[in-house]
Amino acid sequence: IFVVLNLSKDNVKMRLPKSVEMGEVVQRPASVVKELIENSLDAGATRISIVIKDAGKTLIQIVDNGSGMIHEDALSSFERFATSKIKHVEDLEVLHTFGFRGEALASISAVAHVELRTRSAEESIGTLVEINDVFQQNAPKISRIQYEQGTSISVRNLFFNVPARRKFLKTDQTEFKRIYEIVKAFSLLHRDIQWVFIVDERELLNFDGINEDNFINRIEFFLGKNMAASVVPISETNDFLTVSGFLGKPAMSKRTKNDQLLFVNSRLIESNSLSFAIVQGYGDLLGDREYPFFMLNFKLNPKKIDVNVHPSKMEVKFEDERNIFNMVKAIISRFVRGMDFAPSVVLEK
Ligand code: ADP
Ligand code: MG
Repeated sequence: IFVVLNLSKDNVKMRLPKSVEMGEVVQRPASVVKELIENSLDAGATRISIVIKDAGKTLIQIVDNGSGMIHEDALSSFERFATSKIKHVEDLEVLHTFGFRGEALASISAVAHVELRTRSAEESIGTLVEINDVFQQNAPKISRIQYEQGTSISVRNLFFNVPARRKFLKTDQTEFKRIYEIVKAFSLLHRDIQWVFIVDERELLNFDGINEDNFINRIEFFLGKNMAASVVPISETNDFLTVSGFLGKPAMSKRTKNDQLLFVNSRLIESNSLSFAIVQGYGDLLGDREYPFFMLNFKLNPKKIDVNVHPSKMEVKFEDERNIFNMVKAIISRFVRGMDFAPSVVLEK
């Protein structure tokens, strides 16, 4: 069931980011990957495959075993501001802060060739939607196909009709790295999910989602054995927020900020102030310009997050930034000081 949000009308009391302009959600291949993965997660998938070619410039395909869509919803999903994730007007504020604005598929299909294959459990036959150029008269083609339950979305030739954007893209190596970071972040956070990542026809990773303590394997894969032996699980709750995830021991800190992953309500974000609060929490346990590994998910009331979120940069502002900063710093500080500092380096056998 879809609701089309009336976001353009002033009668919705909500501050909208400037970037609500069509296509702003889609800045580069990695933003497509992020949006599609989030959709798969929202659909309750337990297996998500990401297939890319030429750093996503030629092909991005996400295949999931989630809820799928019924025939009549498959086409609506590409309408701008169409979302099935909202039922009441009161939800608007909350959903908006999560980035649920029914924009992603509309924006992606405006700048790429898109194929959607889907089937929901309620139907025995699936649906194929092909969108080749929304600005031409060739309307989306919709047909019925055999398909398993779930959804597959292929995005080909990104920005084929926006040469300026295409030119703005970085080298394949850089664009690939950005996609890799997204896949890394999601597969570390959602450890109950099976993740497959196929890059230029080579299977780069295949994590099964069955093994409960597979986190260490995943950390090992991305960050190496020594790091895997030096992360400590954390889970702290107060009246305002819950912090859960993993912190690296101070001894494993590095001179780069690369190994910092932040989520708010399970959405991947960037927040300089939050990162800084965490580093401050380690205090003098870190050397000058040393940064610890952390992967933390902050659960808090979505109403406390500033809605002025930039959808592609993933930056969030908190309503009470200073308060959050102090709280996080205190939590991390207390926790880190209770750690067994031994770096527990694993010796190669
Ligand atoms: P939003 O996620 O903000 O609702 P999107 O444009 O990303 O907007 O998706 C539009 C709608 O399409 C979603 O609300 C959902 O109903 C449907 N949808 C998109 N991707 C999937 C998927 N992988 N599985 C099931 N439904 C999906
Ligand atoms: Mg979405």
